[in-house]
Amino acid sequence: MPSIAYLECARCHAQISAETPQTVCTQCATPPAGSLFVRYDFSRLKGSAARDVVASDSVGPWTGMWRYRSVLPEVAPVTLGEGWTPMLKSKRHPGAFLKEEGANPTGTFKARGLAMAVTMAKHYGLRKLAVPSAGNAAGALAAYAAAAGIEAHIFMPRDVPFANYVEAVAYGACVELVNGLISDCARIVQDRKEQEGWFDISTLKEPFRVEGKKTMGYELVEQLGWEYPDAVFYPTGGGVGLIGMWKAFEEMEELGWVPKGGRPKMIAVQSSGCAPVARAYETGATVSTMWQNAATFAAGLRVPKPYGDAIILDIVRASEGVAMAVSDEEILASILDWARNEGIFLSPEGASVTAAYDKLLANGYLKPSDRVVLFNTGAGLKYTDMTAEAMKLKRPSAQ
Ligand SMILES: [Zn+2]
Repeated sequence: MPSIAYLECARCHAQISAETPQTVCTQCATPPAGSLFVRYDFSRLKGSAARDVVASDSVGPWTGMWRYRSVLPEVAPVTLGEGWTPMLKSKRHPGAFLKEEGANPTGTFKARGLAMAVTMAKHYGLRKLAVPSAGNAAGALAAYAAAAGIEAHIFMPRDVPFANYVEAVAYGACVELVNGLISDCARIVQDRKEQEGWFDISTLKEPFRVEGKKTMGYELVEQLGWEYPDAVFYPTGGGVGLIGMWKAFEEMEELGWVPKGGRPKMIAVQSSGCAPVARAYETGATVSTMWQNAATFAAGLRVPKPYGDAIILDIVRASEGVAMAVSDEEILASILDWARNEGIFLSPEGASVTAAYDKLLANGYLKPSDRVVLFNTGAGLKYTDMTAEAMKLKRPSAQ
């Protein structure tokens, strides 16, 4: 494992020590303070021989996403078996692979980022972590905090998927349900953290959730035989995974593990009920504006202004991808389509990307033979209440 060289601000490129816990950049001249990215000394790791160690050395605790420990901080992991999720070939689309993140502990991709962030919190000796969440990050933080013996303080919208509430309570987290959206939850954490002694583990306000999420980038490339696909479809709420995968691609190229220049188009997908990044992309803006009255049953996409919006938009444009929105009706239709024809019960967020894929095939942006990776970021079973409502299904006892 490499030691961390320094943390680098995504905006002003200041270099900050990782010896003590850090949140966002302390050197940016104007707000918002930039997110910090972890930078390593990779000099010992260069070349494909080092890459092959990843696969041959993946034993014991170093399974799952920790097979990439050679590009993660040198610490003892708090792990529940996250990562190395299935890459399923579509039965109908010759070029499409579905990355099944529902196979993670807590049933979603959030396990990766929070495994890494809680690992580092334990390493630093932090005792109280706080997070605003649209739902799944809350469940994942609660689980990993329980595994690490650390307090979790969670703020979620009152109407989160019921599973997120039940699991967070079951894991013993301090849960507050808020009348509002994740942005309102974030304000509460911001206002109270100093007084309460909480460490804020919000999306892109600490450096390590990106490090966990970047393993999706390494993993999808390794699972495709160390080759890039033509496009990666990613449901974009906070966008950490998209940012993390792009960082992984940069690192893999620096390491010589993949050739430079063939990166996939990054397709950021949102719901038309909350599409700040898609709107900014369409209007040519470099940042998003707060989306008013956000409403979609894809709960994870109800992020009215992601903290990392500028970084997400940069990546989408640099990759020659697109940011786009699909409607809740299209999302529901795609859930049923994939359930009935592929045997896969997608989360609403996952179905936003399968719906977007259909659209980009139909309009000729992609060919059926193009290799694409579609991220199902969570198990459909975590959303039974939301999806049942969208399907107009009621519990038989309630009729
Ligand atoms: Zn800065």
